[in-house]
Amino acid sequence: MFIGIDIGGSSIKGVLTDTTGRVHAFTSLPTGKTAHGIDTDIGGMCRLLAERAGVDFTGVRGIGIGTAGSIDRDRGLIFTSPNIPCLKNHQLTKSISAVTGKPVFIENDATVAVMGELWAGHGREYRDWIMLTLGTGIGGGLVINGAVYTGTKGSSMEVGHTTIDYKGLKCPCGNTGCLELYASATALVRYAGAQLKRYPLSSLKARTRTGALSSKMIYEEALKKDELALHALHRTGEYLGIGLANFVNLFNPQAVILGGGLSRAHKFILPIVKKTVRARVLKGFANDLKYLPIKDEERAPALGAAKVAIDVLHG
Ligand SMILES: [Zn+2]
Repeated sequence: MFIGIDIGGSSIKGVLTDTTGRVHAFTSLPTGKTAHGIDTDIGGMCRLLAERAGVDFTGVRGIGIGTAGSIDRDRGLIFTSPNIPCLKNHQLTKSISAVTGKPVFIENDATVAVMGELWAGHGREYRDWIMLTLGTGIGGGLVINGAVYTGTKGSSMEVGHTTIDYKGLKCPCGNTGCLELYASATALVRYAGAQLKRYPLSSLKARTRTGALSSKMIYEEALKKDELALHALHRTGEYLGIGLANFVNLFNPQAVILGGGLSRAHKFILPIVKKTVRARVLKGFANDLKYLPIKDEERAPALGAAKVAIDVLHG
């Protein structure tokens, strides 16, 4: 048995799995505020997973952890994690090993999400595919010939920071006109907010009187055919299609797997994305291209993290 942990900005998720990818137990809890608190929580979570699955903790062979931020895999160190500042310069593998007595391995959060989908999701049906996660930013993953491509430092496919408008908005990353400034959930909310004045009859305008505009709100109003909500989602789909057309031309994938909060609005976005990609890629590249959602978004990163430990310890 192996444990996979996915440390996110708002929650920590854990799975207990065997070497086939079957989930024997799953649990999650809110992310703690201190490094020590997080270590203790993960230690408790590991024991709880074993207990829930009815297995003796001594039968757990190893723990894999996926975490956001920049990491040093070999030293098991988190340098910085923008969404979890308390983990700055934290020796994660050493501390979790100390509280569990197990070998611990860490990996980048984007990589474990791709590994989970490749191992136990739709990714197993395709040889060459890319993943896009549409949330606060836009993340990416790449599988070439059945293997995750991670780049030299373990963080390839920073698709959110590829340029789609060279004279466009300034990005905190230092670049100009980055895709995620136009096609993420954050970008959608920013754009719709800026357009409220031009759409005085929009139901979004009424809703902003009682709460801050959100991508969920825009999706809900689009379902009711609000003109601004539909327009903002259409625009998001167009930009996303432009970005994706670049990746399709680069990698000629069999499938594009989509995740992240904004992918829930696929009903509105996906038809535009497909149309834009088809119009922009080289002939033939879009013909058999499949678009799929991540199979089990909640568990995929934790499963992928477990796979990291399995690959090292089980071969
Ligand atoms: Zn950027």
